[in-house]
Amino acid sequence: MTTKTNTTTAEQHDSMFDAVLARLDVAAKIYGLSDDVANILRNPQKQVKVSLPIMMDNGKVEVFEGFRTVHSTVLGPSKGGIRYAMDVNDDEVKALSAWMTFKCAVANLPYGGAKGGIKCDPRKMSVGELERLTKAYTTAMADVFGPSRDIPAPDMGTSGREMAWLVDAYNKVHRGNFPGVTTGKPVGMGGSLGRDAATGRGVMVSTLAALKKMNLDPKTVTCAVQGFGNVGSHAARLLNEQGMVICAIGDHTTTLWNEKGIDIQAALRYVKENGNVLKGFTGGVEIKPHELLTAKVDVLVPAALQNVITGEIALDIKAKLIVEGANGPTTPEADAILQEKGIVVVPDILANGGGVTVSYFEWVQNNYGYYWSEEEVNAKHDACMSNAFEHVWNNGKQYKTTMRIGAYITALMKVEFGIKAKGIY
Ligand code: GLU
Repeated sequence: MTTKTNTTTAEQHDSMFDAVLARLDVAAKIYGLSDDVANILRNPQKQVKVSLPIMMDNGKVEVFEGFRTVHSTVLGPSKGGIRYAMDVNDDEVKALSAWMTFKCAVANLPYGGAKGGIKCDPRKMSVGELERLTKAYTTAMADVFGPSRDIPAPDMGTSGREMAWLVDAYNKVHRGNFPGVTTGKPVGMGGSLGRDAATGRGVMVSTLAALKKMNLDPKTVTCAVQGFGNVGSHAARLLNEQGMVICAIGDHTTTLWNEKGIDIQAALRYVKENGNVLKGFTGGVEIKPHELLTAKVDVLVPAALQNVITGEIALDIKAKLIVEGANGPTTPEADAILQEKGIVVVPDILANGGGVTVSYFEWVQNNYGYYWSEEEVNAKHDACMSNAFEHVWNNGKQYKTTMRIGAYITALMKVEFGIKAKGIY
């Protein structure tokens, strides 16, 4: 394990996968997981890396690196998004794939976990270049993906547009029509109603459930949301609709504070009309990104990047409740500090599970060939998330630990059952 000396109270983790293992080890010990099962989970099942030569618009060829890691297929076909970003690497994809195994198990879905990515800067590429890159990646991964094998979805830097290209390339390689090979597709080509807002909706459902346990009324609660993309914008809107005052929002271009509450509808209109960024929106005063995390609010929703809540930031956090919309926003060092401070953390593998839950509903609808109304999808989603929340909360209480470790224990119980039921040869 790569560690370095630290400035806070616990060891720091340079590797994201090590950070996953750190939590796995704690949960395994508290739960009493067998070493055999722990060893299986410490090693991803399959790691594929491809190089993708792409003809760029300027006539030059650029070679991109593409990754897909299947962490586990114990509970079903592996499931997880595809990320386009410059910092995509083996370690990150491996960590995110393991989180998907645990996330799907917590949400009680019949899936294992996987994650993929391409090291690229999608903001600097043309639509044509992105389409060629997505189709080259899909062709290279055509034997990895499959509706009953490994099912991708959007993640950071990708959306329904990329999923439509992915289906097209997959269908051409396999000569057929396989809408269930991916989820998060546009509605109208096999996508599910409610999928776009699902991750934000799951954040809303878990926030309300946590506030109830804490005897707090959402109508008297203030909140800061970091990230205004697919997760943060829907989370801010839905929490606001529940009566919460959203005092701070931010994206990669700006961070804003308004003590009286930001007009979220106006912010949503602004980003829609201004290239999907908040820069220039005047609904609050500009603050530094880290000031959003340590702002004087009741609820903090990190819904952007990983590792933003470090030990140092954690020492300064004033919120009573943190709901992790992003994957891995809190470092293990920060976990220890937040626990000491008595701050309730609804962990990523529970809080942002709404996205993959509706992905599952999309896949069911694809397999069924029959499509549900948005109300039906939302009702099924809310029931699934509430159940998952209760399981995690109860396991946290029963094992006298945090909700994060409670969530890992919830997942470990299911995966352990799967491994033992199937047998090891
Ligand atoms: N990328 C999303 C996540 O991290 C969704 C994954 C999916 O729907 O398969 O949960």
